[in-house]
Amino acid sequence: MAVQESFDLVVIGAGPGGYVACVRAAQLGLKVACVEKNERLGGVCLNVGCIPSKALLDSSELYYLARERLVGHGVRTGKPKLDLPTMMARKEQVVEELTENVRKLLEGNKIKVMKGSAGLLDENTVAVSNSDDRSIEIRGKAILLATGSEPISVPGISFDGERIVGSTEALSFQSVPKRLGIVGGGYIGLELGSVWSRLGAQITVIEMLPKIAAALDGQMSRALQRILKKQGLSFQLQTKVLRAQVKGKEVSLELEAGDKKEELTCDRLLVAVGRRPLTRGLNLDKLGIETDSRTGHVIVDSNYRTNMASVYAIGDLIAGPMLAHKASAEGVAAVEVIAGRAGEVNYDAIPSVIYTFPEVASVGLTEEQIKERGIEYCVGSYPFSGAARARCMGETEGLVKVLAHGKTDRILGVHIIGPRASDMIAECVLAMEFGASSEDIARTVHAHPTFAEALHEAALSVQKCSIYAS
Ligand SMILES: Cc1cc2nc3c(=O)[nH]c(=O)nc-3n(C[C@H](O)[C@H](O)[C@H](O)COP(=O)(O)OP(=O)(O)OC[C@H]3O[C@@H](n4cnc5c(N)ncnc54)[C@H](O)[C@@H]3O)c2cc1C
Repeated sequence: MAVQESFDLVVIGAGPGGYVACVRAAQLGLKVACVEKNERLGGVCLNVGCIPSKALLDSSELYYLARERLVGHGVRTGKPKLDLPTMMARKEQVVEELTENVRKLLEGNKIKVMKGSAGLLDENTVAVSNSDDRSIEIRGKAILLATGSEPISVPGISFDGERIVGSTEALSFQSVPKRLGIVGGGYIGLELGSVWSRLGAQITVIEMLPKIAAALDGQMSRALQRILKKQGLSFQLQTKVLRAQVKGKEVSLELEAGDKKEELTCDRLLVAVGRRPLTRGLNLDKLGIETDSRTGHVIVDSNYRTNMASVYAIGDLIAGPMLAHKASAEGVAAVEVIAGRAGEVNYDAIPSVIYTFPEVASVGLTEEQIKERGIEYCVGSYPFSGAARARCMGETEGLVKVLAHGKTDRILGVHIIGPRASDMIAECVLAMEFGASSEDIARTVHAHPTFAEALHEAALSVQKCSIYAS
């Protein structure tokens, strides 16, 4: 097999890590190829992750608001009716448009997009096999692995794609399940649980740990659980699923909670217990590229370089939070390094969001982490019920919590549960990026009336100066 073409950089995978890396590399003057095995570009994020889930969250939120909230605002529209096929078609259209935009973006930057499954042959050669099982070889002075992740399954539960499913199928149910069981109380389970709950399903979340969304600050996790419970979701914490079996049109579950055995029956079961790096077919073992024996992550140094000097890796494939914006930031940094510049990601200031209603957003350390590290700290918090804008909108649930260093006042973490938390967190990320103190936020003038005033008050309350807290 002859080498067909040579590039400065070959990127494997066109998710938010890979395609953003491609564009940055082209901006820096590199000749780039991007190999993607799926028909549509954009990776998990655009096709079966961030985007379709948010499209359904936004649509189902409108349905819920129309049903439950509009009357309180003096708007009577009659009884809202769910048109699930239209909701699904809209989601599909959003995905179609955004994935097509990625194609145009890559083409516009003169990046050669190649469809096929890529595997490494040596440190500079990639074999690309297409669906006809024909293979070509391309060469890259550098190769960037950005193949992402795939769902983890649980022993005793096998996916059947119909009754026992992963997040991909749960984004495309053709009817609202009456009872939806969800294994895993992480953000994917909670977001999809919220979608189907708003559309009428009875949701039971089964979680092995004592709290939902385990990475959250404890206070936020408890507040979120309380709010979701009020919305009708039920939770079985510290509970393990021993077995799940499809029986006719139902799924029957055997559960273990401490020394108690329980049973649960649902119509569909979503398994959302996490994801693992996707390295299959890359030939890493054969080439001696190191992976973590426990997690499967590709091991890289601070420049995203593997133990093979010309091969780099980013995104879900390497350690760290599995988030689209983290993958993109790493893609940019890795490519800047490859192009001989300084590229860096500040892992202390990566925001994360759970798009429930209200949303949960955080950046930096949780109060538990601060305590574990023995750092002296001050905390300030403020409820949205005290923010005028939240009152106007009738969205008063939740709070902002600011954690600052006890001596320097430098912000250590900010945690928000409340309306538009996903947008509000940006100010906090920027503040942390600039090494700001809580006083910096407190002295920043915030527009009135806005949700961001709750952040302002929380920052003021770190030094017990809140104007409105009673
Ligand atoms: C339901 C759900 C909701 C999510 N919501 C959010 C969210 O709201 N915000 C957020 O930040 N993150 C979210 N995520 C996580 C986010 O999708 C991932 O962190 C992100 O997609 C990782 O980007 P990546 O570029 O590393 O990999 P991916 O997006 O997984 O892309 C990898 C690409 O590589 C391709 N590929 C794999 N192997 C090969 C091969 N051998 N040859 C060629 N191509 C290959 C794959 O087909 C894929 O297109 C969500 C995930 C899920 C499942």
